[in-house]
Amino acid sequence: MLELHEIETFYGDSQALFGVSIAVAAGEAVALLGRNGMGKTTTVRSIIGVRAPRRGTVRIAGQDVTGWPSHRIARLGVGLVPEGREIFPTLTVRENLLVTARTRGAGAWTLDRVFDLFPRLSQRAGQFGNRLSGGEQQMLAIGRALMINPDLLVLDEATEGLAPLVRAEIWAVLAQLKAERLAILVIDKDVHALAQLVDRHYVIEKGRIVWSGQSDALLADIELLHTRLGV
Ligand code: ATP
Repeated sequence: MLELHEIETFYGDSQALFGVSIAVAAGEAVALLGRNGMGKTTTVRSIIGVRAPRRGTVRIAGQDVTGWPSHRIARLGVGLVPEGREIFPTLTVRENLLVTARTRGAGAWTLDRVFDLFPRLSQRAGQFGNRLSGGEQQMLAIGRALMINPDLLVLDEATEGLAPLVRAEIWAVLAQLKAERLAILVIDKDVHALAQLVDRHYVIEKGRIVWSGQSDALLADIELLHTRLGV
């Protein structure tokens, strides 16, 4: 579903990514881990076309999309839950969900399916985005990403700053989406929750992938957790 091959991404003259390669297969869930400022969000921006890499390639569903504008990449089936959520504050919950809707065949995501997934959004369907709690906004951001009927869901900070009960609900929803074979690339600080959810992890440091492997290897590597992730 996703293949980054040795991408190098810059902000002006300042290089943020140095040859980052990441792959997510169809139906696979993968985590991108790293401390603050290491390049996680820049990797996401490179995937979704907000900041095209200067070198290297981005492939989505086998197609080279390097340099494509974001709206074309989204239309290929990439749903983004951005850092900070970016809910439209003056649209209602229902309107926030409908603006991104993109229909596709049977089994597609609809308003009703999103409301089944997050019953709280259903109760608040007529509320404006800026009247929601942080947890409700994150549910809405996930619902909005699903409404484009993605083949790949990218979450930049899945549960950051949320209360424990809401976090648990979001991890459970992501497990459900994974069980439905949606490909997922997820960023979060909660290494233990990620280890339960995903198949593989990449650790990024100063714009380079410094480790990759499965959950049991990650959790067993105390040195890695301590020095590279501050756990
Ligand atoms: P965080 O967890 O704090 O969001 P991150 O791992 O997502 O961190 P990035 O936001 O990708 O890290 O930042 C990677 C590097 O790129 C950092 O050195 C950061 O200062 C730099 N950077 C990020 N955004 C910009 C920008 N808009 N302009 C210039 N430099 C930037």
